[in-house]
Amino acid sequence: MIACCLSLRLKTCVNIRLICPGFRWRNEAFYYFCAMVKKHTVFLLLGSNIHPRVVYLHKATELINILIGDVIITSYLYESEPWGFEAPVAFLNQVVCVETVLEPVEILKKTQDIERQLGRTEKSNGTYASRTLDIDILFFDDEIINLPELTVPHAQMAHRRFTLMPLAETAPQKEHPVLKKTCLQLLAECADECEVWKLDEVKADAL
Ligand code: ADP
Ligand code: MG
Repeated sequence: MIACCLSLRLKTCVNIRLICPGFRWRNEAFYYFCAMVKKHTVFLLLGSNIHPRVVYLHKATELINILIGDVIITSYLYESEPWGFEAPVAFLNQVVCVETVLEPVEILKKTQDIERQLGRTEKSNGTYASRTLDIDILFFDDEIINLPELTVPHAQMAHRRFTLMPLAETAPQKEHPVLKKTCLQLLAECADECEVWKLDEVKADAL
């Protein structure tokens, strides 16, 4: 971003100064501002248990790249039995790490847009149901957020093996800002007995 802003700054400065020499300082201030915009690191959990599950996860990652920010890490895919309800198809889950300039509530709106674009119709309202795509916000930097519509770190993450396994693969040493334990420690201490299988790339491609 900084390199991009600086090269744009140079090119645009040259062009605009030919027309209007006095523009230089406002122009520079704008690009310095761009370079200073803070990037946040966000961990999202993607989940699907309606076929084609792997296609929904891939499309979600593409839309996250377009609407939220650069996806810099993706975990392996993990398969698990539905958690807290009965369903004919197992879940596929994946953690993605994203660099974004968006704020948490904007990210929630974008993730909900992506869920809708990929066919998600109903929200849980306390009971779980099969879904083409679910996106949960796990971490937003090291911030603790308690809003009516958004709790970060995600309230259930320490109780869900299907969340902790891809998260511990992606960010083993990241510390949970409330529980003060790393993702690896949370996984080691997790009492969730649901089985979760890590899929190797060959098997994931065949899904
Ligand atoms: P679940 O993921 O538990 O199956 P939903 O995806 O239907 O449930 O989300 C229910 C509500 O949870 C959403 O409307 C959203 O406002 C709220 N929510 C609170 N915290 C988070 C979070 N960290 N990530 C995603 N949604 C959240
Ligand atoms: Mg959700």
